Amino acid sequence: MRIETVLNHCYRHKSFVYSDCRWGRIGGKKALIVDVVARKNGLTECSICGKVAPLYDCLDERRFDFVPLWNIPVYFQHWMRRVKCPEHGVRVERVPWADGKSHLTKPYVLFLSRWARKLSWKETAESFGTTWDNVYHSVKETVEYGLKNRNLEGVTAIGVDELQYGKGQQYLTLVYQIDAAARRLLFIGRERKAKTLLRFFRDFGRERCARLQFVCSDMWKAYVKVIAKKASNALHILDRFHIVQHLGKAIDKIRAEEVRSMASKGYYAEILKNTKYCFLKNEENLTEKQRMKLDDVLQYDLKSVRAYLLKESFQLFWAYTSPYWAEWYLQKWCARAMRSRLEPIKDFVGMIRRHQPLIMNWFKAKKAYSSGVVEGLNRKINLVTRKSYGFRSYEVLKIALFHTMGDLPEPEFTHKFC
Ligand SMILES: [Zn+2]
Repeated sequence: MRIETVLNHCYRHKSFVYSDCRWGRIGGKKALIVDVVARKNGLTECSICGKVAPLYDCLDERRFDFVPLWNIPVYFQHWMRRVKCPEHGVRVERVPWADGKSHLTKPYVLFLSRWARKLSWKETAESFGTTWDNVYHSVKETVEYGLKNRNLEGVTAIGVDELQYGKGQQYLTLVYQIDAAARRLLFIGRERKAKTLLRFFRDFGRERCARLQFVCSDMWKAYVKVIAKKASNALHILDRFHIVQHLGKAIDKIRAEEVRSMASKGYYAEILKNTKYCFLKNEENLTEKQRMKLDDVLQYDLKSVRAYLLKESFQLFWAYTSPYWAEWYLQKWCARAMRSRLEPIKDFVGMIRRHQPLIMNWFKAKKAYSSGVVEGLNRKINLVTRKSYGFRSYEVLKIALFHTMGDLPEPEFTHKFC
């Protein structure tokens, strides 16, 4: 059987045929070269509008990367033609196996981008004897297709989150869908300003905004303001995950300061050594060693210990089912925390008091859209960005995040190459 026959089985075209398959040498490597020619009486199309247009002239041959066969690179070779489109003038013809100026065939684009979800981009390139750039362009094309063809109907709950990335204080704004049935990344914006989030709502459209029932976010001022304005029908919830994160930061600040001041006085510093995660982790997640260390350090009358105990008692707040009693407990806790004379804790209390109504919405939403979802997505995002030393810029990171978390539709082919 000839390879052309196999190709016709996997990937057939209306106006083109595989005319020959032979050995060649490309970039010093042995490769299979498949000639693709126009069918007799086949019509030519303009690459801009896709409409049938009369043939104008013939250009040089062009090669396109196809899915490798038995680890042998495969290329399509075609003598490109030009058409004279009544609307666009003289243009290169449209070919069904590649988009625009791309030298990668569509099945190969999908092939690489699917593997790039299982392997790193570098590993994908190495596994299939191609370049990082080709993998990047494949993922990019697939993501662009997905964003153009995704369905945004039926989104009733969203989460807004910020992400620190790169060196220094660079932030991204992320919006997820957090409906129980569908969890995915919807939007990425550079920076975390009001106008960043406004762009999401503008793209999302007024009608869809009106149908939102829940919005989850951090206490970040710009977000709170924009959400109040643009999703006024929705219940705005400040979610547990972000609140606990703020408290964690306060505790870590107290601990770090205390370590410094103890060291400068020349005593005690040993006690607080390696306690950072003892204080920050939930008790059930501590390792045996951390638990012993924590038991030991709790005996001392330290600021860090007082802060830790406040954090532990704050957890009880979330266990309430009645919003009334939850609020009673929160106020009691805040009063106690204010007496602690720990500045970072007092700042935290100020923040809680300023946002109390929105925090209480968490109980109104019957805890449905709580830490679990946002925290899970946040963790996954961090996993992608941590691998991001290969992602040289914001644009690349954005594509990588949509690729792994956007749950985007893919183009379909009759044959699945992977
Ligand atoms: Zn045209």
